Amino acid sequence: MVYLDHAATTPMHPAVIRAMNDTMTTFFGNPSSIHRYGRDAHTKLEEARQVIADQLGVKAHEIIFNSGGTESDNTAILGTAYAKQAVGKHIITTTIEHPAVIESMKFLEKQGFEITYLPVDKKGQLLAEQVASALRPDTILVSIMFANNETGNILPIQEIGELLKEHAAVFHTDAVQAYGKLPIDPAAYGIDLLSISAHKINGPKGVGFLYKRDGLSPPTLLHGGEQEEKRRAGTENLAGIVGMAKAVSLLTPEVQRAHSETYQQFAKQVFSVLEEQRVDYRLNGDPDSKLPHIINLQFPGVTSELLLMKLDLKGIAISTGSACTAGNVEPSHVLEAMYGKEHPAVGESVRISFGLGNTEEEVHSFAELLARTVLGTKK
Ligand SMILES: *Cc1c(COP(=O)(O)O)cnc(C)c1O
Repeated sequence: MVYLDHAATTPMHPAVIRAMNDTMTTFFGNPSSIHRYGRDAHTKLEEARQVIADQLGVKAHEIIFNSGGTESDNTAILGTAYAKQAVGKHIITTTIEHPAVIESMKFLEKQGFEITYLPVDKKGQLLAEQVASALRPDTILVSIMFANNETGNILPIQEIGELLKEHAAVFHTDAVQAYGKLPIDPAAYGIDLLSISAHKINGPKGVGFLYKRDGLSPPTLLHGGEQEEKRRAGTENLAGIVGMAKAVSLLTPEVQRAHSETYQQFAKQVFSVLEEQRVDYRLNGDPDSKLPHIINLQFPGVTSELLLMKLDLKGIAISTGSACTAGNVEPSHVLEAMYGKEHPAVGESVRISFGLGNTEEEVHSFAELLARTVLGTKK
């Protein structure tokens, strides 16, 4: 079995599991309780917050713990829209966002908000100038992902943040795929809100956080108790949060750089085997601005669903990157945005995403199997 779908989710690091086990065993108290059990749990909670804040170079109270990427995106977008609707109802985003962003936008459209979906070019890239020309006096929010989960493309977030310094619109970025892979400096990049999920960085599922810049009023969706300074009600998922902080602490800049080099090597290995075997393939995305762990490849004449199934039978897990509804692979909205709905790449592309635990031998035998399977599947 070879797992090459780390952009969908990652296995937990053993140290994360240990940290979570310890927390569940010893620190079961409610962090809001005033007795010793509660105080001890509260201490663990705040230690985790500090670890994460230090790594991101932000203040501890700028971190709001929640249930993950989807909640962060929904909170940032819906929360900001509701809070600012008296100022304006125009929002800017892109056509290649994660469903957690796109569906939040569609939900707002039904409530009278006006959304501009910026198009991307054939490489799936966007120019900061597109944002500049879409901005209006009534624009209240700009939400653009840091890096795309299907192609790995890194978008010009720093440039966009720079030009938004001149405008009152709130700047949100979904950094779920980029986090732990790239240096991210929210203050320097002019980011107001940033979405993060733990399970994409070898942490547990169902936990994440929203970074909220100091001074910005908090977008709040869940109302109830006073947890997270009243910004996100509900008893904290302490074991999950401690596990996430452990996963973050393992991703030092040196480790991130080493991973980056390893995954670039893996990608090269796949390309060279495909070339040796004379397999016709095309890379979807922007080779000059891409996360190292994701490669999205089109194999002309090969249906992606069939390729996925054949590889699955041989113990290989890759994906198309797009949503899967009731066992059917939906056409990728990201590839459609890049090439147009009718382009063959939309139905002939697969996503391979590397992660912790993948070895050179594994990647090599995968690449040979991929080449054989593609050649054997071609119409
Ligand atoms: C996985 C992912 C999400 C969703 O995060 P969850 O924690 O699974 O809700 C959001 N955005 C991007 C870019 C992702 O890759």
